[in-house]
Amino acid sequence: MRAAVYHGARDIRIENLPVPVPGPGDLLLKVRSAGICGTDALEWDRGPILTPVDQPHPVTEHQGPTILGHEFGGRVVDLGPEVDGFGAGDLVACVAGISCGACAGCKAGTSNFCDRYFTLGIDGHGGLVGYAVAPSAACLEVGRLGLDDDRAALVQPMSVALHALRQGELRPGDTAVVLGVGGVGAFLVYAAAQHGADVLAVDLDPARLAVAEALGASAAVRADPDSSPASGVLGYAGGPVAVVYEVTGAPAALTAALEMVRPRGRVVGIGLGAHPVPIDMRRITLREIRLVGTRAQVFEADFADAASLVASRPQGWSDVAPIALPLDQLVPDGLLPMVKGRPERIKTLIDPWATAIRPASGARAGSIDRVVSPSLERVIAE
Ligand SMILES: [Zn+2]
Ligand SMILES: [Zn+2]
Repeated sequence: MRAAVYHGARDIRIENLPVPVPGPGDLLLKVRSAGICGTDALEWDRGPILTPVDQPHPVTEHQGPTILGHEFGGRVVDLGPEVDGFGAGDLVACVAGISCGACAGCKAGTSNFCDRYFTLGIDGHGGLVGYAVAPSAACLEVGRLGLDDDRAALVQPMSVALHALRQGELRPGDTAVVLGVGGVGAFLVYAAAQHGADVLAVDLDPARLAVAEALGASAAVRADPDSSPASGVLGYAGGPVAVVYEVTGAPAALTAALEMVRPRGRVVGIGLGAHPVPIDMRRITLREIRLVGTRAQVFEADFADAASLVASRPQGWSDVAPIALPLDQLVPDGLLPMVKGRPERIKTLIDPWATAIRPASGARAGSIDRVVSPSLERVIAE
């Protein structure tokens, strides 16, 4: 089987590896679709930051080259001992974040703060491979919801978005602003709209704003890189809003978020900037604004709802994730454009079994023609 194996900065190799054997509690999955995100792009460009290439991971004890991929699902093809509730042929989505179930964090319903937390595809082998091993306790059967392989791969990023949504304590009828319609922001727009909120999406890219409107945003505000989007948003919204989701990680966007939010409103920080940012504590204190963080997801609380949200969009997700790339194109057409800040699509899927680009489920075959634009070809050639 073929796998995308991370060896270090700018060093991902497509290797032929033996099919692994599932251990106690594990499922062996045939992976037809796995997503990539900014974490993978950063690790490829400037890592190893998280991946335990040079020293053993304290929990997994894994050290060395690592199969990437933390957004995946697949068909169950084999079961290790002590697996209950799954059978061969089941289609599952995997949460990738693994918790012990026994520590104080897990018992408090916050398995994302487990003492022994680790992530498949980062701290140990993941899903950018023909066959992946995943603990059954971290998998959810999604075939019954009508999902297919490509949609199953979207459940993990949707669960990240849904967890962030809940951190904002958004209520139906509230107005929410989403700053940045990327791989988390797009799912957040959809989840917030489905929750009954009035959603304003803000991005620099008109194509992404068009997708945001298709996902349920009631207004799309095109940001100008040289000025704050706050006045535009306040104009559209008719005043400060209940919740701002800051997904870009840009320092100026956090400042703008604090200008958009109403007294007693919430700003949820999702995007991770490279450096600490100064913030206006006076504004936060005197308006009783709550600035809250969000970390991954809680499998037990968020994952099944995320799968239902992915399943609930009748037209599918081909505007967000139009194609699946073969492993050989992971770097030039997947990670490199993300590093350059010029990705061609909101979510890029990889099919470890494909030999050429294929349309993702629900996509029209003609959409492949637009995959590599002339400008992107120049970037790849650089
Ligand atoms: Zn991710
Ligand atoms: Zn735990």
